[in-house]
Amino acid sequence: MVANCLFCKIAKGEIPVDKLFEDDDLVAFRDIAPQAPLHFLVIPKRHLAGPNGMVGGDEFLIGKIMAAGARLARENGVESFRFVVNEGAEAGQTVFHFHLHVLGGRAMAWPPG
Ligand code: AMP
Repeated sequence: MVANCLFCKIAKGEIPVDKLFEDDDLVAFRDIAPQAPLHFLVIPKRHLAGPNGMVGGDEFLIGKIMAAGARLARENGVESFRFVVNEGAEAGQTVFHFHLHVLGGRAMAWPPG
C-alpha cells in the first residue's frame, strides 16, 4: 500500500468502484470516465507503478491481469477489444499504479492519438 495512491485505496476497498471481479491478486472495475461502451481497468492489488516498475516474478502477475481482462471482456459480451497500458505522463498515464485498460464495444482507430 502506497500512501495517497488512488488505486491502492481502491484495491483495499477504501474507495467504492463498480467492481467486475476480484481475487487475491487483482481487482477489475469499470472506468469512471468510460471511453467505449465497455471500459474497465484491471489492477494488481500490490502496488506497481507501471511496466517500468516490474521486477522478477511480475511477469506472471501481468499475464494473469491480461487473462482476466480478456475473460471479463468476453463475459461482458465483447469478443474484440483493445488493451492499453500507459507508462509515464507523456504516454497519458495519470494514475501511477499499474492498470490495464480494456476497451470494447465500438470500432477502434489506429494509430491511437
Ligand atoms: P491512465 O490515464 O492510463 O493513468 O488511466 C487512469 C484511468 O483511471 C482513467 O481512465 C480514469 O478515468 C480512471 N479513474 C480515475 N479515477 C477512477 C475511479 N475512482 N474509479 C474508476 N476509474 C477511475
